[in-house]
Amino acid sequence: MGSSGTPDQPLRVAIVGSGPSGFYAAGHLLKSKSHPDLNIQVDVYDRLPTPWGLVRGGVAPDHPNIKAVSRVYEKTAAHPEFRFYGNVEYGRDVTHEDLHARYHAVIYAVGAQTDRRMGIPGEDLPGSWAATEFVAWYNGHPDYRELEFDLSSERAIVIGNGNVAADVARMLALTREELAQTDVADHALDVLAESGIKEIVVLGRRGPAQVAFTNPELLELGEMTDADVVVDPRDIEVDPLSRRWLESEAASAAARKNVDILTGYAGRAPAGRRRRIVLRFMVSPLELLGEDHVEGIRICRNELREQDGGLRACSTDTIEELGCGIVFRSIGYRGTPLEGLPFEERRGTIPNEGGRILDEQGGPLRGDYVVGWIKRGPTGIIGTNKRDAQETVDVVLADLDAGRLNDPADPSRETLEELLAERAPDHVTYTGWEAIDSVEKAAGEPHGRPRVKLTRTEELLEAARARALGVKPARPRARRPKRPAPAPGKPRCR
Ligand code: NAP
Repeated sequence: MGSSGTPDQPLRVAIVGSGPSGFYAAGHLLKSKSHPDLNIQVDVYDRLPTPWGLVRGGVAPDHPNIKAVSRVYEKTAAHPEFRFYGNVEYGRDVTHEDLHARYHAVIYAVGAQTDRRMGIPGEDLPGSWAATEFVAWYNGHPDYRELEFDLSSERAIVIGNGNVAADVARMLALTREELAQTDVADHALDVLAESGIKEIVVLGRRGPAQVAFTNPELLELGEMTDADVVVDPRDIEVDPLSRRWLESEAASAAARKNVDILTGYAGRAPAGRRRRIVLRFMVSPLELLGEDHVEGIRICRNELREQDGGLRACSTDTIEELGCGIVFRSIGYRGTPLEGLPFEERRGTIPNEGGRILDEQGGPLRGDYVVGWIKRGPTGIIGTNKRDAQETVDVVLADLDAGRLNDPADPSRETLEELLAERAPDHVTYTGWEAIDSVEKAAGEPHGRPRVKLTRTEELLEAARARALGVKPARPRARRPKRPAPAPGKPRCR
């Protein structure tokens, strides 16, 4: 292959997905310490017209400090050899073959596009939602804006003890005034603010020592303006196996602190706030009940048993039913297969070694790499992707040095842009995104909101185009804050 990364031929890298892992990979490539004089061009694709992935579409609206990480990505995007191509879908507008004909390396940073299934009866009843759908809806993801969440019942159930479950519980408990200061999608603001839900019950299948909440997220549940956090002291008695683990060196400081926080909650008397967030432990859903709509949930009590080197939740014969009108399944995300690439069905990831994608024989695929959740599974916080991206970028650059990258027939930006003009004429460049960004921020400003999101693809494209044509785009409508309106049997281990 001809030399790439030299003055004559820039190293051309495509990154599919513009969330944190994709942007960290772009940033590491554009300012590589090991290859400071590298002549490189990085093109980042996204199927949405907007960048930032879960920073825009996943992080809860009441967490603006977490969203502020996008400033780091903006610096990467300011590099002269960076390009953004939004509204271009891999597998539809551009294929594996297209990219391999034009780039020396392709890094897939597509995240985990779906949710894990519980595999219990009633899971698909109306009123049973994947938390990921609710999150995408309140964050204004264009594909989810038409969903209708009925929050008129008094009790909602959230299944799972991770940070997404914490986000969902909080979003159901925020006051209108709190919501109105955020960038929550306008279509969600009134629905959430007028919700009739009084009690949000969060179900954990294991005990307080095993929750997946991070400490700040668990603490926040105890600091809600208009919701009491409720923990039954009997529910958080630490079982002997967990006690032994907590006292061992294997236990993390975060797990010990979570137990302390929950013990504190169990000692609190409710302050009579309008809503309650009830945290339950050692229970698993067996069935969602109801004919045409969720009306309740049947749960069983669990006990922990040592299995495969960990503590697993095993069902007992103690069964309980709880009435509810809506259920959010928040038991984790899951990756989906990508056109032209292998897939590990069991883990929901693309098989790889340190980021190099492996073929069925376990050998590396030339020029194909992964980063983020599709590489390691849906774990870790945003910052975890920085290290993860460094590992992948290191193998890309090692393969460059060893002459093991892809050898594209036409590695020029000009012909790539000709292809996009034909296949995805409505693609959004970084300038287009900046136009969207300024329209949204300007719409939020008079209302003290960080932005009012455009949530329809057409509106986003119009705002992006308007800058190119010198036209003043229509602003999104911003709402003014209103006053608030008033199975028994054999144990199963999971
Ligand atoms: P997660 O952290 O993996 O939590 C999933 C939860 O679901 C666990 O409590 C798990 O229990 C439970 N679960 C799994 N299968 C179950 C089943 N069949 N029945 C009942 N419970 C089940 O996933 P997540 O909440 O979706 O979050 C994904 C990642 O994003 C995490 O790394 C999270 O920290 C991160 N995130 C961070 C923030 C933030 O920093 N503010 C916000 C949102 C998300 P077991 O432990 O027993 O498996």
